[in-house]
Amino acid sequence: MIKILGKTKIKEKHKLTCHCGAVELLLHLPNGIVNPRRCDCSMCRRRGAIVASVQLDGIEIIKGAEMLKLYQFNTMTAKHYFCSNCGIYTHHQRRSNPSEYGYNVGCLEDVNPFDLGPITTADGVNHPSDQ
Ligand SMILES: [Zn+2]
Repeated sequence: MIKILGKTKIKEKHKLTCHCGAVELLLHLPNGIVNPRRCDCSMCRRRGAIVASVQLDGIEIIKGAEMLKLYQFNTMTAKHYFCSNCGIYTHHQRRSNPSEYGYNVGCLEDVNPFDLGPITTADGVNHPSDQ
């Protein structure tokens, strides 16, 4: 659990925005940034975002719900959302743990994900749900 990153204190309710600002989410992060990771699955290797986890009831859409576009593939379990205007990935409902969302750490207000230093890479090629 990471509660301070660079000069930014992770708030219990931290704002997350897409690039153009059409989409704003409020994330409930009582434990800060949990389990930040990259993944090498076919989706994440293209997307390149650092992802962390939040509970399903831990995301409130403040603005731009109608701007969010849903993308699904393969088993259609995970739900990947991105802004239909600027194309930035904001969050997704996870496949390996559908009671959680993953979210784009780089979209957190005032957070530079490069301050995290080296990040673990999850083995998405050999996904746990495919075993
Ligand atoms: Zn946008």
